[in-house]
Amino acid sequence: LKVAKFGGSSSASGEQLKKVADIIKSDLDKKYIVVSAPGKRFGEDNKITDLLYLCHAHITYSVPFDQVYKMIVDRYSEIVKDLGIEFDLDGELNEIKEKLGKNISVDYLVSRGEYLNAKILAKYLGYKFVDAKDIVFFKMDGTLDEEKTSVVMRKVLNQAGNAVIPGFYGTGALGDIKTFSRGGSDITGAIVSMVMDADVYENWTDVSGFMMADPRIIDNPKRIRSITYRELRELSYMGAKVLHDEAIYPVRNANIPINIKNTNNPEDPGTMIINEREKLDTDLPITGIAGRKDFTVIGLQKFYMNSEVGFVRKLLSTLEMFDITFEHIPSGIDTVSIVIDNENLNGKLEKLLSEIERVCKPDALNVYKNIALLAVVGQNMAFTTGVSAKIFNSLGENDINIRMIDQGSSEMNIIVGVAEKDFEKAIKSIYAAFNK
Ligand code: ADP
Ligand code: MG
Repeated sequence: LKVAKFGGSSSASGEQLKKVADIIKSDLDKKYIVVSAPGKRFGEDNKITDLLYLCHAHITYSVPFDQVYKMIVDRYSEIVKDLGIEFDLDGELNEIKEKLGKNISVDYLVSRGEYLNAKILAKYLGYKFVDAKDIVFFKMDGTLDEEKTSVVMRKVLNQAGNAVIPGFYGTGALGDIKTFSRGGSDITGAIVSMVMDADVYENWTDVSGFMMADPRIIDNPKRIRSITYRELRELSYMGAKVLHDEAIYPVRNANIPINIKNTNNPEDPGTMIINEREKLDTDLPITGIAGRKDFTVIGLQKFYMNSEVGFVRKLLSTLEMFDITFEHIPSGIDTVSIVIDNENLNGKLEKLLSEIERVCKPDALNVYKNIALLAVVGQNMAFTTGVSAKIFNSLGENDINIRMIDQGSSEMNIIVGVAEKDFEKAIKSIYAAFNK
């Protein structure tokens, strides 16, 4: 039994959905299909989900609603026409439009992209459409209600036989529609795989697997044949958003491999994401590189910091006082840095700094705004010497200043902070250093 999730690019047009249908029909083990909303067809095109967010913004701001709404209608009309199916698109869209006048929730509105797409694909395939609201449930605190979801989903899907399910959303604790975060269809696919005990979770997208680095930055990067869940989580958390990082837990615990596949090139074996490292087939010391912008690094220096009892505790309670979470906190003998995602900082930086001055009394306090973090990840790193030297040398040779370094205790990743302007250059030089 296989669960197959198709992303936005795989369902961006009727033509793409026909490829999807061919892939599904060529393998009868693919019983449960999860789909995203139609994505971009080309460069300046829009993702349906983005248009739906804009429609909702119209309720509060004055976005030209008719224009946006028409773009959505046109996209779906084209898809339905290209597929040549009979589908009551007007009826469906009117139902949504009617609700717009009332106090509609943003989650409900944006979930309609997946909802319509799944209904259309189900029709085209002759499969049953199963609404995610009937099989995915959240608890009061917003996390997945695993128990209820397992029981209900198993029952509904066993009865349904082959089914198409919209990703991205489910039912909240109060009976309302609730979505996961963006890219959340990957999570839906993982949950269906776990509950239905799939042999493999296939995640179909527009690249032939997970690459050593973002193909938008590196020309033709090497493909990763197999990678462990842990490595993948590090990479996807750090920006390699091929797969939502929360999609990993459900399948990892159930020991179900994920296979990243390319809808435009289905023969390609893609990338296998697995539990054990013995099965990895790479000899390279590193498995991949990823990175994200928008961090701030606060560096503290204090002579004899290491022998001052409670120093780090004081620092951490200051952060806690401002309700700020941090990503990393690398330290040396007399130095400690805190790396904060700018999103968690929202306007609190100045006050935070003066409180740190007051409480910790550092000899020096340095702040680097606009920092990008790079993660170099690989389980082979633990068995290879000179990996960090190679990273630092390649950055040095390209005149890139390192603002922060952190090595995870697992010896599986090295995190480097650089100025945002050096972000792409840094990824290029590290990639080149390991691929000579
Ligand atoms: P989908 O619409 O199928 O969910 P996504 O856009 O979410 O697809 O993810 C696929 C994209 O991820 C690729 O088109 C690629 O641009 C980007 N990407 C970023 N980092 C990597 C990487 N290391 N390997 C492959 N793709 C990557
Ligand atoms: Mg995605």
